[in-house]
Formats: sequence, C-alpha cells, structure tokens
Amino acid sequence: MPGNPKILIVEDNELNIKLFCAILKKDYELFVAKTAEEGIESARRVIPDLILMDIQLPGMDGVSATRIIKGDARLKSVPVIAVTSLAMVGDREKVMSAGFEEYMSKPIEIQTLKSIVATLLSLRPPNG
Ligand code: MN
Repeated sequence: MPGNPKILIVEDNELNIKLFCAILKKDYELFVAKTAEEGIESARRVIPDLILMDIQLPGMDGVSATRIIKGDARLKSVPVIAVTSLAMVGDREKVMSAGFEEYMSKPIEIQTLKSIVATLLSLRPPNG
C-alpha cells in the first residue's frame, strides 16, 4: 500500500510475481519489473527501500543488474535479496560475494520471505 516501505520486485515469472505481490502487498508499496534493464530503471526512479532480485532473467541477469545498482551512489545502501533457483542452493558464498545482502531459493516460503524482508528493512537507517 502507498505510504508503506517501497519494495521493487525484479522477476520475469508471472506466477512468482503474483506470489510475491500476494504476500507483500498489505505491508509494502510494490513495484514490479520484468527485466534487469527495467529493474535498474525503476530502482533509479523509485529509490526503493528494498529490492527482490531474481537471478535468472531474460537478457541481463540479476547479478549484473545488482552490480549496476550497487554502483549507483543513490542506491548502493538499498538491500538486495537474491532470489535463486534450486540449482544455486548451497552457493550462498558466491551469491553473497556478488553484493547481495541476503538470498532465498525458490520455491518461496511465505514466512521466510516475510521475515527476511522485515529484518533487512529494520536494519536500514530511517530516511532523512
Ligand atoms: Mn526468472
């Protein structure tokens, strides 16, 4: 909902978009982008409080997009959660070294998502 913390969801899969929105829409203001390029553009326009970043996207992937976002002075402190496929489970080190604050694997667990998002937002300094 407007007025709540802003979350940008970068995800190309319709079902996952629906799932994220269903879980988060009550407590957050949501923005959705379906490609990395769109996600970067939205991030620069919206300056979200948190970003959920799918790793496997058409064209540019989520790791490259996150590097660009982290290279932007206005966005570098925005926490980015990597959303990975099962193939990357156990690859936490690799994902975290790419600049993500946290990662979660699909299929998404509702309580895990809620708790990771709430924790990362609580660590953010208040907007001045
Ligand atoms: Mn994907």
